[in-house]
Amino acid sequence: PYTGPSAEEILAKRKEYLSPSLFHFFSKPLNVVDGKMQYLFDENGRRYLDGFGGIATVCCGHCHPDVVDAIVKQINRIQHSTVLYLNHAIADFAEALASKMPGNLKVVFFTNSGTEANELAMMIARLYTGCQDIISLRNAYHGNAAATMGATAQSVWKFNVIQSGVHHALNPDPYRGVFGSDGEKYAKDVQDIIDFGTTGHVAGFISEAIQGVGGIIELAPGYLPAAYGSVRKAGGLCISDEVQAGFGRTGNHFWGFETQGVVPDIVTMAKGIGNGIPLGAVVTTPEIAEVLTRRSYFNTFGGNPLCTAAGLAVLKVMEKENLQENALVVGSYLKKRLTELKDKYEIIGDVRGKGLMLGVELVTDRQQKTPAKAETLHVMEQMKELGVLIGKGGFYGNVFRITPPLCFTKEDADFLVDAMDYSISKM
Ligand code: PMP
Repeated sequence: PYTGPSAEEILAKRKEYLSPSLFHFFSKPLNVVDGKMQYLFDENGRRYLDGFGGIATVCCGHCHPDVVDAIVKQINRIQHSTVLYLNHAIADFAEALASKMPGNLKVVFFTNSGTEANELAMMIARLYTGCQDIISLRNAYHGNAAATMGATAQSVWKFNVIQSGVHHALNPDPYRGVFGSDGEKYAKDVQDIIDFGTTGHVAGFISEAIQGVGGIIELAPGYLPAAYGSVRKAGGLCISDEVQAGFGRTGNHFWGFETQGVVPDIVTMAKGIGNGIPLGAVVTTPEIAEVLTRRSYFNTFGGNPLCTAAGLAVLKVMEKENLQENALVVGSYLKKRLTELKDKYEIIGDVRGKGLMLGVELVTDRQQKTPAKAETLHVMEQMKELGVLIGKGGFYGNVFRITPPLCFTKEDADFLVDAMDYSISKM
């Protein structure tokens, strides 16, 4: 049993010694002391079904034994910087990752986070094209350093950094957007930005295929092929941010961009790829990768032996346990059950997403689509009391984000939906 400090003691220390901008879920925050696959346990040993951990970090499941084993073996052998010496872990993981990529996307740069991966991708695009202008989407989240905060377009996450050379295009949001599900119409805005807001040449375009932080928004069908077309005509590179939608989560495909039938020039990833170990990556073509030989790109720990050993173990588990297939089967079932809830409750305005990346948007009025912010928070709290954790997001904070570890089962899906059903019914 757990004998460490209580939630109250931890909270007091956090208040005194940690960043005042740190936030936590729930009015009475959860003290998580153990994790096992799709479950988390609090200080009293109470079990919670983790419907959100998949995005936070974990794709195979908390403390998956194969991943833990790989980490322990590696740390007992050697942990060091990525650069200077040879080690097989980084080369093996790079090879395995490249084998998951289409086309000529086969050169991997490792980083420690999603922010770093996107910073590097944006710099590569700028170096390769000699241009500065990058187009990203409204409602996007790509990171919190200088360039990526510029590409991020949600005010909650923005500080006053110089956003030089970033333009935000109309979000192809099928639920709230003006053009509904017509992806090509939204993509016209990318062409307009290029024509009216730049020299006609751009460095690139960055987006997710399904926006995570933005509230599980699947870009309208046909958007990426059209947007990529405009960007490439203007000499730019297309970057796909797979930090959330990648790694089998969408079920039908391994990468989010595949759901739109495009092949990017640069792919970035992080979060789940290390199953909780800090690890990010940028994958591009040999020709584009060449630009970084103009100077040296140095990253002390990006791709170190420990993290890449974990990354390789994750890929092996995904294959061994058919986790992509599981995301499809369980995700489709879960979406069906959530859609049935929508028929039952007026407050559910939209159910969307693919595989185990699902969103439920709450509105007080289906016509006006008025965000039901307080209700979203309330249901989340009630579900936690029932032992189910989910996340929330979207610009208005009124979208449940359901992104469990990929080992989620149909029984877990039933429990999650039943808890949501009960919580809404009691509201
Ligand atoms: N891209 C996307 C799509 C993300 O969701 C996030 C994190 N929320 C990032 C990039 C940044 O990743 P990190 O927090 O690891 O820097």
